[in-house]
Amino acid sequence: MDTPLVIPVFIPHSGCPHQCAFCNQSIITSQKKYLPSPKEIDTIIGQYLAYKGNRSRVELAFFGGTFLGLPDQDIVWLLEKIRPYVENQTIHGIRFSTRPDTITDQKLELIAPYGVSLVELGVQSMTDSVLEQSNRGHSSLDTRRAIGLLKAYELQVGVQVMVGLPNDSKDQLIDSTKQVAALGPDVARIYPLMVLRGSLLAQWYKKGSYTPLGLEQSVFLVKEMYKIFNRANVAVIRMGLQASEMMDDGTQVLAGPWHPAFGHLVLSALAYDQVCEKLGKFFMLSQGNLVDRVNGVKHVLLGVHPRFESRLRGDKNSNLKKLGKEYPGLSFSIQTNDRLMLGEVDIQKALPRD
Ligand code: SF4
Repeated sequence: MDTPLVIPVFIPHSGCPHQCAFCNQSIITSQKKYLPSPKEIDTIIGQYLAYKGNRSRVELAFFGGTFLGLPDQDIVWLLEKIRPYVENQTIHGIRFSTRPDTITDQKLELIAPYGVSLVELGVQSMTDSVLEQSNRGHSSLDTRRAIGLLKAYELQVGVQVMVGLPNDSKDQLIDSTKQVAALGPDVARIYPLMVLRGSLLAQWYKKGSYTPLGLEQSVFLVKEMYKIFNRANVAVIRMGLQASEMMDDGTQVLAGPWHPAFGHLVLSALAYDQVCEKLGKFFMLSQGNLVDRVNGVKHVLLGVHPRFESRLRGDKNSNLKKLGKEYPGLSFSIQTNDRLMLGEVDIQKALPRD
């Protein structure tokens, strides 16, 4: 199936009764109005449909809030507003994000008639002490129950998890990711934690009791999470915040591993690991280091499908530079080859020393 056109409709956080340590919803809600008007929704849909092109599927996503935390009349109002578009098959599916503890039989019965296809849960972590430290107000058990219930209602499940939460550790994060993956969600989003002005986390950051992850560390951890999801056949549909998902005012982000192409950095790091693995096999590592083993070889040509070239190259050729440092005595270059499979890295040639 081709990638659907996703029409985003922003639902402010106003309905949320919680105060997570990393959220600054009080600021957001003081600046934004509550729900979009019917006219605004029609306008957004019309604007996005103009860019549909030849895509066969269109989905509407309510972003930004705890959808099932809204009062029932608002949930019904929003879904009723979209219903004609679903009935005339202009829109083929609705998705939204919500907290795990808002998933109940009553809410799922409420939304059942409206063509909701996917529900994304703000899981964040499966480590209860980490959830508690972040004032999430729900437990890992809520997530287990929620995913079980969504599957019972035959809804697709998305999970959103965070890296860099207060008091989290690498081991806890890996274990948490494995637990989430084992619950069998369909898709996952991985977000590095940012320190937002006005949040409790910002106070901890200013006092020095919370230090955000560095960019490199975040990329490494998200890469490991990606691998876990990948092995469990969970599609990772986003890593890092999009620029449009940041606050309207960039000054709201005080600190954190922000990068406009965070996902690309992770995919490049994965490509780097792939090359290292291939090199190990290519040169038949036994004892000793690589330079000893590649006696007679000075240049390695890496083959890749044209669409994966930039990923293999890395940001500003960082992967090639890193390979040169990791394997002194060798230089590397890339040759594209459209006969290779997407994502495949091939060591095409190892040229001998002069
Ligand atoms: S549940 Fe979501 S909207 Fe509510 S406080 Fe936490 S992060 Fe903010």
